[in-house]
Amino acid sequence: MRKTLYIIGLSAFVFSCTSQQNVKKNTYKPKTPVTQPKVVAKPQVQEKPKPQITNDHGVEFFTTNIADPAKNDNTVSYGSIVSAKPAGYKVVKTYFPAIAQNFRQKYLILHYTALPDDKSITVLTQQAVSAHYLVNNTGDNEIYQLVDENKRSYHAGVSAWRNDKNLNDTSIGIEIVNSGYTADASGKRLFVPFNDDQIKKVAALAKDIITRYQIPATNVLAHSDIAPTRKQDPGPLFPWKKLYDQYQIGMWYDDAMKQSYYDMAVSTDFTSKYNDSAFIFSVQTQLQKFGYGIELSGKWDDATKKTIEAFQYHFRPENYDGIMDAETWAILQALIQKYPVK
Ligand SMILES: [Zn+2]
Repeated sequence: MRKTLYIIGLSAFVFSCTSQQNVKKNTYKPKTPVTQPKVVAKPQVQEKPKPQITNDHGVEFFTTNIADPAKNDNTVSYGSIVSAKPAGYKVVKTYFPAIAQNFRQKYLILHYTALPDDKSITVLTQQAVSAHYLVNNTGDNEIYQLVDENKRSYHAGVSAWRNDKNLNDTSIGIEIVNSGYTADASGKRLFVPFNDDQIKKVAALAKDIITRYQIPATNVLAHSDIAPTRKQDPGPLFPWKKLYDQYQIGMWYDDAMKQSYYDMAVSTDFTSKYNDSAFIFSVQTQLQKFGYGIELSGKWDDATKKTIEAFQYHFRPENYDGIMDAETWAILQALIQKYPVK
């Protein structure tokens, strides 16, 4: 477009020069004055700065944001340029970056591997599962990248959150080396804590990804949030509140809001209608409203219990019994109010 405008401008300029020369050479003098043609100003073409491009291992990258944030879902453009190399032709990309583009990465999903360090690497690189990043537990300062951020890694599986499904398509996955859980005699899951150095690594990595892709707080989730009937990771010992308080990563509720919903629940005798299908239906509706992919059955079925448990892993980790008590209800309401679906 800019080249075309420049050519038009140049033609107009050449034409006007030729006209002036013709006038000088022409000896014919009209008797009546001729209105002089208006001088048309050459259109001023605003030269936009070309986006900077850098080359790393044969892949070109934009080094500045070039997109129009107003046209994006959540993100601005910034990243690698992978293009065709058609035989006999040249793909020109330097001069024509469109502002109508955004990133495909809308979610950040956190996992634990349930394996030690060496096995985690083997499984995530040699088998049918993967993640973009693997955070080890060896106390060094390294984070392993397993998949290019612009490609899909296979970490989420069948998954859903709010209006999205199959989150492998739109997410970055971080696997954290952690043994997961063992079950006690009663079947209760006992989870293994994360160490502080590892959490610092996760926080720095997550912050970097969230900032670059402008991933909203509502889209920073546990694997258990997007697949509650199948997954528990990264479990109730993953410090979501600490990440929110210290690094502004992800969601957390406001205490005062939670308290007012709690007082309301207690004053209306929350437990008396616990087994009414209308009450169960409203619980399922509220979980769905917040984001969980849950069926509205009106029954305390296994999927509903596991979804409540997943919610508790994330937001009420002190007690993850899968029962919708007044506190869990109050936290859910406080979160819905703070993070409404837009
Ligand atoms: Zn997982």
